[in-house]
Formats: sequence, structure tokens, C-alpha cells
Amino acid sequence: MSIEVKSLNKRFGTLAVCDNLNLTIPSGELVALLGPSGSGKTTLLRIIAGLEQPDSGSVHFHGEDATFDDVRDRNVGFVFQHYALFGHMTIFENIAFGLRVRPRSSRPSEAAIRTKVMDLLKLVQLDAIASRYPHQLSGGQRQRVALARALAVEPKVLLLDEPFGALDAKVRKELRRWLRRLHDEMHVTSVFVTHDQEEAMEVADRIVVMNQGRIEQEGSPDEVYDHPATPFVLKFLGDVN
Ligand code: ADP
Repeated sequence: MSIEVKSLNKRFGTLAVCDNLNLTIPSGELVALLGPSGSGKTTLLRIIAGLEQPDSGSVHFHGEDATFDDVRDRNVGFVFQHYALFGHMTIFENIAFGLRVRPRSSRPSEAAIRTKVMDLLKLVQLDAIASRYPHQLSGGQRQRVALARALAVEPKVLLLDEPFGALDAKVRKELRRWLRRLHDEMHVTSVFVTHDQEEAMEVADRIVVMNQGRIEQEGSPDEVYDHPATPFVLKFLGDVN
């Protein structure tokens, strides 16, 4: 599902957090929103998600205006850094949750839920420990469960906000590969917020560099890295290197 953001504005008080943003994300792309803390990445993601409304401008999914659609009607999956799993539920039940709370008319049968959850657990190679509880898992395993849970409802769009931020470098690297693999296998369109340029370069098809509510540059990782379009991009990439 393609995503289009048009002339999007959002202020908090006098601060322009999204400053006339225009962005087109083709169906099937994995896009990183990259920029320093406070540049507006999370706000843009939340507006795409339907968790926040813009002051003006619009968000289109597959050509249709979804700006004021309820979050539940948007067919999006989320993975957030602090979007904790339910501690009192097994990892199987955590993944099944989104399917169980569907309205009765669109709720799969118990057998279909079981098949779906076990398929997802196999995909993230956690099927052998389906009956464990989150506290019995490592941080990396927990985020693999979070990815599987987000994908259980078969979203067309996957939105991730610093999903691996709290983990150490080795686990982060491993999770990037999982994200790439799941994105490709599930045929979703993904938008991924990070302040870590290495993460963006490694995992994304396209990088959108943000600064003070504006897009400084967008392009493939190679384009952005080899040809920084503005002094800000040059400095940002240089600083983190
Ligand atoms: P990023 O994800 O790039 O760190 P954010 O979108 O989280 O940026 O925040 C951009 C700016 O907007 C920051 O200065 C932040 O403090 C401010 N901000 C975010 N959410 C709110 C809010 N609900 N109320 C007031 N200010 C906010």
C-alpha cells in the first residue's frame, strides 16, 4: 500500500514539528525517517498511524484520503521501543491478542488463530518457546515477538518507532536483518524511525533525512551517503560517523 503525505503541518504551541511536509512512499518500500532527536520523526509517524491529527494537509493510503480515519481502520501494525508485550500472557497469546479482539464477524476460528500464530512464531524462530512469558525472553527475542505480533493482523503498513533503541549493538544488528526479512516476506510498506544512520543505511530502501520539521533530503542510502544534499545532512552524517 503506497503512502502519500501532502502539505502536512503540525505545531505544538509555536513550534512547527511538521513544516509543510510532502512525502511519497511507494508500496512495498522500507523507508527510514532519519534525523536528530526533536526533528519531528515520531510526530510524522504518529500522524501516518492516525494516533495524531495534523493541523493541515493530508495522508493518503493507496490514493485514498485517510487523514481523519480512525487508527483501527488504517490496517497498520506498530512496533515501538516501549510498546511492551503483555507480561501476564504467553508469547503465543501476545501474538494471538490482535486476532482475538477483532469483531466477531471478522474473527478467525480458534484453529485458524493457532495456525497463524504458530506460522509467525516459526518465521521469527521462536515456535519452540511459544508457551513462555515475556520475562523469560531476552530483549532481542521480545522484539521479535513484537514484530510477529504487529504482523499477525496482516497489516499493509508496518510502522516502527526506534524499535531496537533499547538494545545492545549486536542484538540491534540481528534485529535489522529480521525486520528486513519480515518486511520482504509479508509484502508490507514499512516506515521506520531512527536517529542511527548506520541502522538506516543498512536496513532501508530509502532514507528521509529530517531536521526541524522539514525534509532535508530523501534518496537511497548510497545517494544520501555519497551526495549529501545540504550542509545539515553532511554534518549529521559526519557527526555520527
Ligand atoms: P523526534 O521523533 O525526531 O525526536 P518528535 O516528533 O518526537 O521528534 O518531537 C518533535 C518536537 O515536538 C520536539 O521538540 C518535541 O518536544 C515536541 N513534541 C512532541 N510531541 C509533543 C506534544 N504532545 N506536546 C508538545 N510538544 C511535543
